[in-house]
Amino acid sequence: MASNQLTIQKLRRGIAEKKFSVSELARDYLKRAKADPFHSFLLVDEDNVMSRARELEREPATDRLFGVPIAVKDNILVRGLPATAGSKILEPYIAAYDATVTKKIKAAGALILGKTNLDEFAMGSSTENSAFGATKNPHDSSRVPGGSSGGSAAAVAGDLAVVALGSDTGGSIRQPAALTGVIGFKPTYGRVSRHGLIAMASSLDQIGTFAKTVEDARTLYQVIEGPDRYDSTSVDIAPTESQEISLAGVRLGVPREYFSAGLDRRVGEAVKKAIAKFEKEGAHIIEISLAHSTYALAAYYVVMPAEVSANLARFDGLRYGYHAEKSENLLSLYKNTRDEGFGAEVKRRVMIGTYVLSHGYYDAYYVKAQKVRRLIRDDFAAAFRAVDVIMGPTTPSIAFKFGAKGADPVSMYLEDVYTVSINLAGLPALSLSCGLVAEEGKNLPVGLQIIGNWFDEGKLFAVAGACEKVLTG
Ligand code: GLN
Repeated sequence: MASNQLTIQKLRRGIAEKKFSVSELARDYLKRAKADPFHSFLLVDEDNVMSRARELEREPATDRLFGVPIAVKDNILVRGLPATAGSKILEPYIAAYDATVTKKIKAAGALILGKTNLDEFAMGSSTENSAFGATKNPHDSSRVPGGSSGGSAAAVAGDLAVVALGSDTGGSIRQPAALTGVIGFKPTYGRVSRHGLIAMASSLDQIGTFAKTVEDARTLYQVIEGPDRYDSTSVDIAPTESQEISLAGVRLGVPREYFSAGLDRRVGEAVKKAIAKFEKEGAHIIEISLAHSTYALAAYYVVMPAEVSANLARFDGLRYGYHAEKSENLLSLYKNTRDEGFGAEVKRRVMIGTYVLSHGYYDAYYVKAQKVRRLIRDDFAAAFRAVDVIMGPTTPSIAFKFGAKGADPVSMYLEDVYTVSINLAGLPALSLSCGLVAEEGKNLPVGLQIIGNWFDEGKLFAVAGACEKVLTG
């Protein structure tokens, strides 16, 4: 059965034309997900996938994700399955309920193949921080797939799943999408419910989608968006409509600051070449300035750990998961559980977060970072008065080798230089593959980041779809 590189649309056609049944499709994807040459999955849910596939066979093929094999990042709850968040501290934990997004994809007919690998509690840019071993990049197994949603990205890039869900706090969908050559989309803050997403930094976290095409990324997103009474930050506004446009007359803002020192020359060239093609199609290229973006990384690495330190306080050895044996009293139980359960990067961030929130440092760090956050947001608001979307590279480099950045956390943090300001501002953005760079005999993808206006996912997808056509046509 030819299910290689299936998209949602092709899959629908295949089922409608009886080229394959849902069970055949499920078996085929399960086989590949179990073989998993990239260590994308932490768990493959064979029994439930097969029984759900047989159930679906008795239903009309009308639902939006009917029979679609999907991978879910392991910090999103699926009732009855583990949700480790890539951490030893949650290894024994079984989700007691479905996240809102899980409920929605189940109701839309999706087949949840399993749970995918990630950096511990979504902290990282390579999946090397996972307590269960790193994921490999399908384009070159000596290189990282990016992170933190590296498992979901590799699953889609390696065609172990048709689409996948991830979470993005500072780039964790877009950066791995760029490094593995797939579409990675992060919605406007508030568009998708965070209920049932294991929190990293609550004012930055959003669940989003991975796919091989812009259309699939949008289709999956349209299923999961919408207000939710279990998430008070979710917003009740009109759902995203599917639009198609041409690039003629579209105003593309290109920030000067996104092509500065630190950007791999080959990445910059690939992105500029793509933008030149869009100009040829009639797009207006407008140079803009996002003056405060230079401070985005510094502000992010204060605000994010502050929220991390608060969110991770709940892992105390009593309420969830791992419990350190042989502790003499309550305090040593807390200490031992957290010492043995958390990895080095998580501990580092909890300590930084506790520090920047502590009396005497709060104003100097946390409050200052929040003020910078506001200025970053205002830069975007000003830019969007003159442009439809903003474009630049997703990451400063192509996929790097395992171990290349592990010893120096700051070099890893620099991976996020073009992505974090979008989370600080709460904007929607998408990464689209725009070219390949040859290195050591392998072709490695380059990501183009397209940033949309708040709650204007419709236009963002429309522009991204038009760009995809130009780049692949
Ligand atoms: N790489 C970034 C970090 O380590 C982003 C993580 C994310 O988006 N979850 O914080």
